[in-house]
Amino acid sequence: MIAGPFGAVADVFRPEAIGRAVRIRGWVLRLRSSGGILFLVLRDRTGTAQVTGRRDVLGPERFDAVEHVQVEGAIQVEGTVADDPRAPGGREVRARTIEIVDAGAPFPIFQEQTEEFRLDKRHLVIRSADHVATFRVKAELLRAIREFLATEEVLETTPPILTANPAEGGAEAFAIDYFGRPGYLSQSAQLYLEAMIAPHERVYALTPSFRAEKSRTPRHLTEYQHLEVELAWSDLDGLMDFVERMILAACHAVAERRPAELTALGRPPQELLGLHGPFPRVPYLEAIGRLQRAGLPVTWGSDIATAEERALTLEEREPIFITRFPRELKAFYMLRTPGDPRTVEAADLLAPEGYGEIVGASCRETDVDALIERLRASGANLADYEWYLDLRRHGNVPHAGFGLGVERLLRWMLRREHIRDTTPFPRTPSRHTP
Ligand code: ATP
Ligand code: MG
Repeated sequence: MIAGPFGAVADVFRPEAIGRAVRIRGWVLRLRSSGGILFLVLRDRTGTAQVTGRRDVLGPERFDAVEHVQVEGAIQVEGTVADDPRAPGGREVRARTIEIVDAGAPFPIFQEQTEEFRLDKRHLVIRSADHVATFRVKAELLRAIREFLATEEVLETTPPILTANPAEGGAEAFAIDYFGRPGYLSQSAQLYLEAMIAPHERVYALTPSFRAEKSRTPRHLTEYQHLEVELAWSDLDGLMDFVERMILAACHAVAERRPAELTALGRPPQELLGLHGPFPRVPYLEAIGRLQRAGLPVTWGSDIATAEERALTLEEREPIFITRFPRELKAFYMLRTPGDPRTVEAADLLAPEGYGEIVGASCRETDVDALIERLRASGANLADYEWYLDLRRHGNVPHAGFGLGVERLLRWMLRREHIRDTTPFPRTPSRHTP
C-alpha cells in the first residue's frame, strides 16, 4: 500500500527533483518489458513520464502482475527520480514499488479505426493527446471570455433552457413534452437577456443552445455552447467594437497560456498573437458586389451561405464583419437601419480562412408596433411574445447584443476540419450517444 500524498507527474521534471523520492499515479500510456526491466509511460493531468521497474526490486510476483497491465490501466508508483538521456524528457522514475489500481481490459482504440467507430467510442477517444490539448484550449478560451466580460462589467446571468416558445422560430427548435403542454429547448437566451438589461444594463449568458439543424455541415451541432451578450445603450458600431475587443482578448490570452497545445494542434500561437484588428466592416451590399465580381450568382437579397462566406474570407487573415443585411434575411427583433428601410442594424462576424460565421450581432427593435408587425408577418402567435413586448412598454431603451458559438470560434482557432472535434461528446443529427 502506497501511502499518499501523491505528486504531479510534471514535477518529475523540476530541476530539484533529481535523486528525490516521489509518489505519482495515473494511467498507463504504453508499457513494455525487456531483460527483467519494465518500461512504462505514465500519464496524469499534468503530463507524462517514463517509469522503470526492475524485477529484482519489485519482486517477481509484482513484476509479472504489472507486466500485464493494459494501456489505460491505472497504477500508483513510488520511486526515485533519475536522469536518463534515453527517457523522453531525459528523466525517469525508478520504481521502488508499483501498485495496480485497475489492470484494465485491452484498450480498444487505435489510430487507423474508422471515424464512426471512434465516435462510438468517444468516451475513450477523448483520452488521446489531440483531444486533451483541444479541451485544455477550450477551457482556457472560456476562462479568457469570462475574464474579459468581468473586466467590461458585464454580469453573468442564468436564463432558462426550458421554454414555452422557440426564440428563433419553430422549424429548428427541439420540441419537448412539458407535462402535457408544448415546450422547447432554448435556441437562444436573447429574449431573456433583453429582459435583464433593465436591472443590470450589461449581461451575458454562457449556456447550451439547441438547434434541430437537419443539414449536416462541418459547422453545425445540434447542441452547442452559446455565449450571448446584451448591452443597454449600445449601437451597432459600439457592439462591433466590443466583439472585436473580446475576440482579440480571447485569442491573445489563449495563445499566451496554451502555446504548446496550439502548436501541437497545428495553430502556431504567433498567428493568434499577431491578430490586432480593426476587423474590416463590409456592408452587405458591398459584399454582394465582391461576390459578383468573383463570379458567384448572388443578388440583393441572397443569403450569405457557406460558399459565399468562404469566398469572402479565404484570403483574409483577420475576421471580417458583414453589416446591414436586407431585413427579410434576418430575425424579427432586429432594428431597421435609420434612413434605410431595406436593411437592419445587424452584423455577422466571419472567421478568416473560410471558417464561416462565428458571431451574429444586432441592435434590437425598440418600437413595439414594428415588433408586432414583424411577429405577425413571421406567423408567430402574438400571445407567446406578450411578455417580451412588455419590455418595450416599461423603460424601453436602445440596446444591442450578439451570440457567439464557442465551438465555431474554437474550430477556427484550432483549424479543425469539423466542429465535432471541438466538443467532447458531439450532438449531430445522426448522433446523440455516447
Ligand atoms: P448559421 O447561419 O451558420 O446557421 P445562425 O445565423 O443560425 O448561423 P445565430 O442564430 O445568429 O446563427 O446564432 C449565433 C451564433 O451561434 C452563430 O454566429 C454561430 O456562431 C453559433 N451557431 C449557430 N448555430 C449553430 C450550430 N448549429 N452549431 C454551432 N454553433 C452555432
Ligand atoms: Mg442557423
